[in-house]
Amino acid sequence: MKFDIVTIFPKIFDSYFKESIIKRAQEKRLIKIEIHNLRDFTADKHKKVDDKPYGGGPGMVLKIEPIYKAVSSIKYQASRKKAKTRVILFSTRGKKLDSKIAKRLSKYNQLILICGRYEGVDERVAKHIADEEISIGDYVLSGGELPAMVLTEAVSRYIPGVLGKYESLEEIKGSFPTYTRPEVFKKWKVPKVLISGHHKKIAKWRNK
Ligand code: SAH
Repeated sequence: MKFDIVTIFPKIFDSYFKESIIKRAQEKRLIKIEIHNLRDFTADKHKKVDDKPYGGGPGMVLKIEPIYKAVSSIKYQASRKKAKTRVILFSTRGKKLDSKIAKRLSKYNQLILICGRYEGVDERVAKHIADEEISIGDYVLSGGELPAMVLTEAVSRYIPGVLGKYESLEEIKGSFPTYTRPEVFKKWKVPKVLISGHHKKIAKWRNK
């Protein structure tokens, strides 16, 4: 599966995607992540990606033309590979991301993720370019880059082979409280059942 992330801050992704599970998934070629600098899709000398909002008000708005060009070029490459794509715009007004949405999105071959910034994105992107708008929660962030990282990881975890055996098990059984050594820290003890060695009882406790 491929993730194409369109952003004006490509460097943000450098560190996170080079660690841990996401790093391994890329090495195993289960996922591929490509970061696209929106400024590369501008035609003017100043590489302008934003402009003032119609109707007035503070701040700047991301322009539609560079986003259109970026998405068109990514889609053109995808169509040559017959990849099933989905274009997602991060927006505070979008559907709230949950495990159901992440699982559904994991069925596509390619996700094109558009990161907004400033006061947001020209609404015509939501209407005519994006297939859907997604929010990661009821709070306002400065940009779509953190949402893009959250979505990439949440979706990747549904791709077969991305998680190790233990993590997959956790995914199936749901989460439960965990402890590790020491058995007693200050006066705080690890639940007795976990040191009982009684596997059936432990399973029951975890289910509860
Ligand atoms: N004034 C806008 C906020 C813009 S925040 C509003 O009220 O909706 C700038 C960009 O950050 C947004 O365009 C979006 O791409 C991203 N963003 C901010 N918070 C987000 C969230 N909770 N979920 C997803 N994207 C978010």
